[in-house]
Amino acid sequence: MKPKIVIGNWKMNKNFDEAEELITEITEKLEGYNLETEVVLCPPLVYAELVTDHANEEGAPFYAGVQNVSEYENGAYTGEVSAEMLANMDVSFCIVGHSERRKYFGETNAIVLKKMQRLLANDIVPVMCCGESLEERKANQHFSVVQKQVEETLYQLTPDQMERVMVAYEPIWAIGTGETATPEQAQEMLAFIRSVIEKKFGTEMAVNTYILYGGSCNAKNALELFSQQDVDGGLIGGASLKADDFVKIIEAGETVTKDN
Ligand code: PEP
Repeated sequence: MKPKIVIGNWKMNKNFDEAEELITEITEKLEGYNLETEVVLCPPLVYAELVTDHANEEGAPFYAGVQNVSEYENGAYTGEVSAEMLANMDVSFCIVGHSERRKYFGETNAIVLKKMQRLLANDIVPVMCCGESLEERKANQHFSVVQKQVEETLYQLTPDQMERVMVAYEPIWAIGTGETATPEQAQEMLAFIRSVIEKKFGTEMAVNTYILYGGSCNAKNALELFSQQDVDGGLIGGASLKADDFVKIIEAGETVTKDN
């Protein structure tokens, strides 16, 4: 089993002082750990430099990520931030296609693909989110919905690009609702996503691709979720805003990694 990855998505939360405090608390709590689990903090963009400064310190326990990037290269796109700018700031990871961006900002699979390509051109790892709505699950369409999201994004990449991408399965009905997917539901869908990747890119790529679960993952349920064979870690929203909870989730990652 490969080491787990735990990514914190702060969404649009925390003022500057709170952001600094959270970074310091997480750093202090993880001091002395010889972490195998990889940790990524994705604060709001205005705090990215805070995180990259800390992430660049020797022995820092986390990498710097952000939650969004422009689909365009550079130029007259008021309000946008390019992948090149993120790379200049030493950002290593970027979430794309989060369901909140798909819902509130019209992010389509085509836009998600463009964003991934901009990120890959600048050596930033895209964390591509996919997942179905409650209605789609009730209508038994969850597999076809996720398959389409994967085919319209990941299938458009070259194998060399695909090697540098992560996937996060986040059922929309589980995000911020407290209603977590059961470990069996998470495992079933992640194994399915892996099989879809395998069809296009082969077994080695499918096995090596990091596929995370996200959606009300917390300090209590992380261990069970991370123990599932195909769950390579978690994308954590609400629970990443409290250092204690977030560190417990990282500890769950450590436990599973070290037990295997
Ligand atoms: C998310 O926003 O990616 C997420 C998983 O949120 P939460 O953990 O709060 O459900």
